[in-house]
Amino acid sequence: MHVTMIKKVLANGSPCQKCIQAEEMLKARGLWTKIDEVVWAVESDPTSQGMQLAAQHQVELAPFFIVKDERGERVHTSTLKLVRELSPSPEGNNSAATPVAGNAPINPEQIESELSGQTPQHILRWGLERFGADLAIAFSGAEDVAVIDMAAKIGLPFAVFSLDTGRLHPETLQFIERVRKHYGIEIQLISPQPALLEPFVRKKGLFSFYEDGHTECCSIRKVEPLGRALAPYRAWATGQRRDQNPSTRAQVAVVQADPLKLERIKLNPLANWTLAQTWDYLKDNDVPYNTLHDRGFVSIGCEPCTRAPRPGEHERAGRWWWEEETKRECGLHIAKG
Ligand code: SF4
Repeated sequence: MHVTMIKKVLANGSPCQKCIQAEEMLKARGLWTKIDEVVWAVESDPTSQGMQLAAQHQVELAPFFIVKDERGERVHTSTLKLVRELSPSPEGNNSAATPVAGNAPINPEQIESELSGQTPQHILRWGLERFGADLAIAFSGAEDVAVIDMAAKIGLPFAVFSLDTGRLHPETLQFIERVRKHYGIEIQLISPQPALLEPFVRKKGLFSFYEDGHTECCSIRKVEPLGRALAPYRAWATGQRRDQNPSTRAQVAVVQADPLKLERIKLNPLANWTLAQTWDYLKDNDVPYNTLHDRGFVSIGCEPCTRAPRPGEHERAGRWWWEEETKRECGLHIAKG
């Protein structure tokens, strides 16, 4: 096998940050020695070898990788995909679904007591080392991208999914796309089941939640799709924080048995963080965020059910604002009962 990494030098002469992060990720995984050759794409010089390779393979992202072996030539624009291909599994294949660690039973309460005082990165690393690509990160808000950013820097394989409810702001869809490109990752978008959604909309219209509450719409557009999204995984990670909602999230654990399916593990690495700590991380690490935040939105869900909180209101006051505070959860993080 021969692996070429194409790194970029920006037009102003500075190095590409994503290329630096990719190199760090490969080194953290012990895979840097598997890169046979580094070629530079100098943005200001279209004749540079890397720019020519980018044109030849019609690649606009940097870094990217060209892998040649007996199976032929492949181009990876995702560092994580390259990591998966280069990482040997215990069985000798390179399946992305192969967990890094074993299948020994986990006692969530014991792990919670061991990890509850640790940093988000430490908690997430535990999950990634324990479950490998059997751990999925749920992505919708700013906190979730902090978790994605940490996972990318840890350098172990992970999966990402997002629920496309059909009612998201255009800005949120653009945000999802920016995150996909920024990290070079696949984001699995899960849509509602037409067999459930179409009869519901036919019978109750598009805004029934303003009249009889959000539970029915959220269960069709969010909760059922979440069950399908999580089905292949043994663990998932969210960006939930305790201080997001004192009425509903004050007890969030950093590690717990998933209330939706007790044999699955749910990680909330940011549970101990405040909103301010989260935004400090996002800014310090140049993490992409939803441009609606620039217009005063804090917690962002579906367009008809989200408004910017008013001065003095709590951050989740802009979600389902017409309902009682104790009911302002969509059901994604609540036990079946
Ligand atoms: S947040 Fe609103 S539009 Fe979105 S699924 Fe729930 S009730 Fe429906």
